[in-house]
Amino acid sequence: MNPVNSIKRIGLLTSGGDAPGMNAAIRSVVRMGYHLGIKTYGVMRGYQGLLSGGFKELGPRDVSNIIHRGGTILKTSRCAEFKTNSGLKKAKLNLDKKLLDGLIVIGGDGTYRGAYELSKVWSGQIIGVPGTIDNDLYGTDFTIGYDTAVNTALQAIDKIRDTAESHERMFLVEVMGREAGFIALDVGISGGAEDVLLPEIKTNLKSISKHLYQAREAGKTSSIIIVAEGDEEGGAFQIAEKLKQLSGNEYHVVVLGHLQRGGTPTSSDRKLATELGAFALLQMIEGKNKVAVGRLRGVLSTTLLSQTWKRKKPLDPFLLKLLPILAK
Ligand code: ADP
Repeated sequence: MNPVNSIKRIGLLTSGGDAPGMNAAIRSVVRMGYHLGIKTYGVMRGYQGLLSGGFKELGPRDVSNIIHRGGTILKTSRCAEFKTNSGLKKAKLNLDKKLLDGLIVIGGDGTYRGAYELSKVWSGQIIGVPGTIDNDLYGTDFTIGYDTAVNTALQAIDKIRDTAESHERMFLVEVMGREAGFIALDVGISGGAEDVLLPEIKTNLKSISKHLYQAREAGKTSSIIIVAEGDEEGGAFQIAEKLKQLSGNEYHVVVLGHLQRGGTPTSSDRKLATELGAFALLQMIEGKNKVAVGRLRGVLSTTLLSQTWKRKKPLDPFLLKLLPILAK
């Protein structure tokens, strides 16, 4: 494989929420770059590093022993200044000073929006790699980090089930997902939850309360309800209070929070990250610009960056249909 265009030097950054597998993607970009004779400059702390000029050349040895590590060796941040015109211009100047031909950004939809804004002022090629535990990006079946986050949450829920069962208690477990309920739906299905409260679907607490009552009457002595943090009825604590007012029953609340972000990436996440990192660079040397890479219906693909937040990836309708049938 040889570069077919003029890409000689690229920047690479991780931005927004960290996700397990980001390191595997970094490794893949750097080593594919090395294979192709392209120099990769790691940008520290996401867009913050573009503003301060925090670049570091990365060779194959710099990415040794990171494939199995959660988080990101390039660090990440949220950068308000990058949203301003002067911030974008500063970033452009630093990219030009470093003579970079392209930039690969690994992150979620905020990172993609930032990349799109940057592409309006900087002429280099920009490619996005989907790194977020939320799985809420259009253009890829799964995002890097999602599988690990689901399995981490599931392990916790399995443990909660043991105690819920033994003490005959009802639990509300809050999982991450401000805008999207992918994690909640997946762990709800694979953890055998009695109900799942999702931001995408209107929550009816009266019918949930009735369902829990009927389940008790039918002999169920414990229940687990999964709450996505972005549910319109509030977080799990608020919902527990509202359910208590409706039914008089006490609900125990567990908020899984940031523990869902960390940890060793699963095999699926490492593989996806490795494929997408290398594929991003290969697409760049083919001349692609302002696109995000992904695996879509199983096939490595690119989607216009601007489409990734305009179009919404739907929750699996079959899983949604199964939920109430199986929670009997
Ligand atoms: P994620 O990429 O995980 O969704 P954020 O939403 O926090 O994370 O976005 C990461 C960063 O992307 C922000 O801190 C900001 O620097 C940049 N960003 C987000 N939206 C925009 C925008 N509309 N214009 C410019 N930069 C943006």
